[in-house]
Amino acid sequence: MALEQWDTIIIGGGPAGLSAALVLGRCCRKVLVCDAGAPRNWAAHHMHGYLTRDGVPPAEFKGFARQELAQYGNVHFWEGEVTDVVRTPENTFRVKLDDHRSELARKLLIATGVKDQLPNLPRIDEFWGTSVHQCPYCDGWELRGAPIAVYGKGRRGLEMARAMTAWTSDIALCSDGRSGLAENDRESLARNGVELIEDRIAELDGGDGQLQAIVFKSGRRLARNALFFDTPVVPHSQLARKLGCQFNRSGGVRCGKYEATSVSGVFVAGNIIKDVQLAIVAAAEGARAAFGINRSLTREDFDQRATGVKRVEHPSVDDKDAARRRPQS
Ligand SMILES: Cc1cc2nc3c(=O)[nH]c(=O)nc-3n(C[C@H](O)[C@H](O)[C@H](O)COP(=O)(O)OP(=O)(O)OC[C@H]3O[C@@H](n4cnc5c(N)ncnc54)[C@H](O)[C@@H]3O)c2cc1C
Repeated sequence: MALEQWDTIIIGGGPAGLSAALVLGRCCRKVLVCDAGAPRNWAAHHMHGYLTRDGVPPAEFKGFARQELAQYGNVHFWEGEVTDVVRTPENTFRVKLDDHRSELARKLLIATGVKDQLPNLPRIDEFWGTSVHQCPYCDGWELRGAPIAVYGKGRRGLEMARAMTAWTSDIALCSDGRSGLAENDRESLARNGVELIEDRIAELDGGDGQLQAIVFKSGRRLARNALFFDTPVVPHSQLARKLGCQFNRSGGVRCGKYEATSVSGVFVAGNIIKDVQLAIVAAAEGARAAFGINRSLTREDFDQRATGVKRVEHPSVDDKDAARRRPQS
């Protein structure tokens, strides 16, 4: 039996995927959103920096989005994991769901996000998302002027400490062992009032999600209201890699105009691109990808009606566009 064909299957129902669904829905496209329901910010109580939604709980944000999308009968949802994707000889995509069903789509949007890797510090799970954070743009305002710790070694630790100086002047950079920083970096930190502590960390201490102190193996106890860290993130799914998408040096999917990847018919949006990692940026990328997808679908159909020839239209991924997406520190 022939499978039903969607104009687009969106894999991932976070801000990127849902925003794309709205734009494509409004373009009269038949869309299926597949979402495993494990967004990156699951541990956070509030989402900040999203105009008109500043401070709302992430689940509430998703609820608003789903409510808006319910108006579009052409946008459908499936709750579960996409386990595999293959390109068919007809240049469509066969998407395998974890209930063993398959769905077919003309275009694919991968918006599966990334996962954080928490530093290996005793009791960190108790504070993650409430007073241990990875993004000062998300949670820095609430901690402005407060005593905070930064966790990290080498350049990563240094850069997070430097970033935090926008929000507070009371910063301790904890490298949990040798920092690996050169003398000039140590001097820069000292001149900025950042204390570098290379003692090994014994545990984080506090209660009810509120960090109170960093306890070092030396016995020192440093009172802190929050800890920020910057460790590498990992893609939430391997689907883009499986399809043969190229990646950039920072590990994000290489994409160009309208978030088109190097694989014809495949677009990406959100944190998987590894550009600015804010929810509103992910949503904007989703909208841009939706624009590119609808543009390609419209051109393909228009040309086929005009010439009788079926062809696949895909925006180019030139070096200028790809370079624009390289994150700057
Ligand atoms: C603790 C924390 C707090 C944060 N606070 C803020 C904040 O205050 N403000 C802000 O702007 N940003 C914040 N962020 C960042 C924000 O979470 C991301 O920018 C945003 O979630 C990215 O959206 P996305 O759509 O790319 O990915 P996500 O929101 O992570 O959504 C991806 C979705 O894809 C699904 N998925 C993955 N693989 C598959 C698969 N194979 N099949 C089906 N579905 C799949 C996942 O389950 C998930 O639901 C925070 C992040 C963290 C970790």
